[in-house]
Amino acid sequence: MSAEIETSRLQQLDHAHFMHPFTDHNDLGAKGTRIIERADGVYIEDTAGQKILDGMAGLWCVNVGYGRKSIADAVYEQMQTLPFYNSFFQCTHPPAVELAHELATLAPEGMNHVFFTGSGSESNDTVLRMVRHYWALKGQPEKQVMITRENAYHGSTVAAASLGGMKPMHRQGGLPIPGIEHIAQPYWFGEGGALSADELGLKAAQALEARIQAVGPDKVAAFMAEPVQGAGGVIIPPASYWPEVKRILAQYDILLVVDEVICGFGRTGEWFGCQYYDLTPDLMPIAKGMTSGYLPMGGVIVADKVAEVLAAGGEFFHGYTYSGHPVAAAAALENLRILKEEKIPEYVRDVAAPYLAQAWLTLADHPLVGEARSLGLMGALELVRHRETRERFAESLKVGERCRDYAVEAGLVMRAVGDTMIIAPPLVITTEQIDELVTKARQALDMTWEALS
Ligand code: PLP
Repeated sequence: MSAEIETSRLQQLDHAHFMHPFTDHNDLGAKGTRIIERADGVYIEDTAGQKILDGMAGLWCVNVGYGRKSIADAVYEQMQTLPFYNSFFQCTHPPAVELAHELATLAPEGMNHVFFTGSGSESNDTVLRMVRHYWALKGQPEKQVMITRENAYHGSTVAAASLGGMKPMHRQGGLPIPGIEHIAQPYWFGEGGALSADELGLKAAQALEARIQAVGPDKVAAFMAEPVQGAGGVIIPPASYWPEVKRILAQYDILLVVDEVICGFGRTGEWFGCQYYDLTPDLMPIAKGMTSGYLPMGGVIVADKVAEVLAAGGEFFHGYTYSGHPVAAAAALENLRILKEEKIPEYVRDVAAPYLAQAWLTLADHPLVGEARSLGLMGALELVRHRETRERFAESLKVGERCRDYAVEAGLVMRAVGDTMIIAPPLVITTEQIDELVTKARQALDMTWEALS
């Protein structure tokens, strides 16, 4: 069978049977799905033979890059030794124990406990139950409310989507569930108006204090946020933001949940994003880079102060069949070994992130770009009609989506969040490959500009 016929056969079957996540299937039918067949390093390849630089590391997860044979070997070996056993009912198994120990070693001081899940969404569901259970055990069951931010993404289960602040998600299925409050995000370019970045950062942080007071400090259980908001559009908080949030949290008796699903495992140039901003989390949901996406796995790293209360409270009626899955744990262990041995977070901090920052900023001179920003190995471009006024294009023009499609034509995966183009490549990307990424991003901008003129 020719490659072309095989591609079209798969596309037809895909359209007939496969319900994709976050996808308009009408659109999919018209365009035909791109079928990714293989990958190596920082490149993916489709069935048409096009090699594409994966500027999104899969979905913010393939931190060590594709094609790591040692992870495949570790998985194969574990499959043969013990493909599955649960960790309920006083049982455990070597890979999960070793992984919990390794994560406790890597996590910030005083965070020595891990609850395993199968994904970031499950991690955040776990967070919600843990936080509320913690306060109930402390004799303050009225502390139930979680404060999170508008436009945040924390996952797709009912609790995680409610914790997230994405209105289109809330509109489907009657979300959010009760007891979750959303405050403004620290998005200077999009929402700063005439304020300086630091003024906007302070204002967004002070929205937390105002909400705590409106709800009542005795009712607020936790504040939850990503260090840098990823899926919302790589929203890098102004320097004034986190110090002010820290000040506010210290004043009220409220837990801090730092969602490390994207920022964890080297993305910011530190092992965890909380270390980049010098935060002291009480709970840290993790997933994605934990296995570099080679197998699904997530978890919540829990501070001793919380874990001790939970442990003293007896059985916590919560868990997943695949909590601590031995094969996923084996993949995670090998992934962490690679990150450590190849000093990948240090490479990001000292080489790749500074290199990307200067290369990415050169795109700011493009007439379509209102702002170019990056932190660690995450970057964003704001596409605008007028740079001075930050005026956006009409939504119907779908400028971001078009730019994303042109990027793929040029051989680069970039993602569009509205008219914000974002990247988060594998952490092993070389400086030459960063140059390639930026050149291809510029080609995509040029093609979009031409189509609009
Ligand atoms: N939290 C954050 C910050 C995320 O970006 C995501 C996914 O993109 C999640 C949670 C949900 O993770 P998962 O898709 O593994 O359920």
